[in-house]
Amino acid sequence: MVDYEKITGFGLNGSFNPEIILETENDLTCPFCHKSIEMQPLSYVNFGKYNNQILLKCKSCKNAFIGYTTRNNNTGHFIIIKLSKGTHKTSEFSKEIIDLSSTFVKIYGEAEFAEQENLMEICGVGYRKALEFLIKDYLVSIKPDEEENIKKKFLGQCIKEDIGNTNIKQIAEKATWLGNDETHYIKKWEDKDLGDLKKLINITVHYILMELQTKTYLSDMEDNKKK
Ligand SMILES: [Zn+2]
Repeated sequence: MVDYEKITGFGLNGSFNPEIILETENDLTCPFCHKSIEMQPLSYVNFGKYNNQILLKCKSCKNAFIGYTTRNNNTGHFIIIKLSKGTHKTSEFSKEIIDLSSTFVKIYGEAEFAEQENLMEICGVGYRKALEFLIKDYLVSIKPDEEENIKKKFLGQCIKEDIGNTNIKQIAEKATWLGNDETHYIKKWEDKDLGDLKKLINITVHYILMELQTKTYLSDMEDNKKK
């Protein structure tokens, strides 16, 4: 459904400008709270025939930001094509994962930051590095005696030789293949992209979390049984 909102604004010299009509077809995604929601247009500044910058307010988090426009030649209405930047959105991980590898969480967040800044050539390398910390910290947690050895080994070797859980092993292996692709000159997995790499990392996180939670419940209930 197309919505029309009338707003008054200003010229570049600060003079009052007449009403314009803003045409919005879809809810916009707020650059601050990242919700897809209807925005309240407050005013505008005119930069030329096609270019009004609209001051918008998010109806959810109440932050204000700018919407950049183009103009519909048939109707003369303005349409928002881009929003100014707000805050970055980083994934939240459960306590068990943060306790297992706070470095994974940190690097993953930095890779997301790079991705949201459109630094597409380096965010893949970041996700690959995050994966390495996740797997190695997971392995060190189950084989503390082999810490030095695990930290020195190639990631692929760790996955092949040290992971016992078949689900984690298979998924982590595929994630590493795609992750390595992000660091190489020639891409092997042409039909897979960053989205696939992130999905595989998230499935790996999921399986590791299931294993950690299973262990916690089992040992907790076994302990209580003995009492
Ligand atoms: Zn918001």
